[in-house]
Amino acid sequence: MAERSYFDWNATAPLRPEARAALEAALALGGNPSSVHAEGRAARHAVEIAREQVAALVGAQPGDVVFTSSGTEANMAALTPAIEVDGEKRPRSRLLISAIEHASVRSGGRFPPEAIEEMPVDADGRLDLAALERALSRQAPAVVSVMLANNETGVLQPVAEAAAIVHAAGGLFHVDAVQAAGRIGCDMAALGADVLTLSAHKIGGPKGAGALIRRGDHIHFPSPLIRGGGQERGLRAGTENVPGIVAFGAAAAAARRNGGSEVSHMLALRTRLEAGLREILPSAVIFGQKAERLPNTTLFAAPGMKAETAVIAFDLAGIAISAGAACSSGKVQPSHVLAAMKVPPELRGAVRVSLGWETTEADIERFQNAWRKLATTLSKGERGIAA
Ligand code: PLP
Repeated sequence: MAERSYFDWNATAPLRPEARAALEAALALGGNPSSVHAEGRAARHAVEIAREQVAALVGAQPGDVVFTSSGTEANMAALTPAIEVDGEKRPRSRLLISAIEHASVRSGGRFPPEAIEEMPVDADGRLDLAALERALSRQAPAVVSVMLANNETGVLQPVAEAAAIVHAAGGLFHVDAVQAAGRIGCDMAALGADVLTLSAHKIGGPKGAGALIRRGDHIHFPSPLIRGGGQERGLRAGTENVPGIVAFGAAAAAARRNGGSEVSHMLALRTRLEAGLREILPSAVIFGQKAERLPNTTLFAAPGMKAETAVIAFDLAGIAISAGAACSSGKVQPSHVLAAMKVPPELRGAVRVSLGWETTEADIERFQNAWRKLATTLSKGERGIAA
């Protein structure tokens, strides 16, 4: 059994061997992809192969992929009142988002705070489509952003249904597919996404690479977030992160190739993990359980459990999990996702267990053993664990 068990794949996934090999090979490429000489052309070729690989993961055209530094940057770049569709230059004055979006969408990109409106979710953490329809009927035109899978609960959002509603109202639809890509099907046309965001490090690529993907060049961003040189067809200036992009492409290709088998592997282990959770402590609550979820994510709470303390207890037992959403400051913030789901405050000390293609039966066993100990402490209501 490995010395530690990593259950924080939604925070970041380990680098895939294919991505590591591609990264190392790309580090040896000396040229700048914008240079016309042979060294430059070799770097350009590698970037363009990666563009094809990333496009293939979501059924897009390679020319519609814009590489960015992260999912966060792609979200920021996507959310702007200035998106043009078919040359229509009228600014979009409102941004509608679900109440459970990632912070990079909740920040609203380049929309002013007063233009941002949050749509409610139901008790299982799914977007309220009727509320979206009502909001769109009030005023147009809008940009609407809905994630495909929530990073805390793993709950899948009714994205295709939302797309139909948004398009009927003349809106533009952005999908943050950062957590979903490589874990469930992510075809842009099937989702009805006009613009979509990916992040390399969630699919086994390196940190520091992402993509903003358009569904056709009839969608245009006239004022890019990062201006300067003409890289990425003028949509994102700056010399490309060649090793990061090349490894992102390799990870996308591997995710596409292995998708089916990885999903059944994760689902079988997650089912075992959740059965054990409840068997050991029947009062444990798994969030979003009635909804369709990613095959790798379990967000759970138990009466009296404090997230920070649970994370430390698991860590000491050799298990990496996170307290709801990972937080860059290291502080655990109350979850806006659980608040939006109207989970009672006493159950908001939830922890997230997320697994992946490298997770083993032995990892699940280690988790169950640690949970058994923690649950016993919880049942006794011991100080330090109980809230
Ligand atoms: N969107 C979602 C749903 C996420 O979970 C994350 C990261 O956790 C991001 C966007 C941001 O991606 P990145 O870490 O590449 O900035």
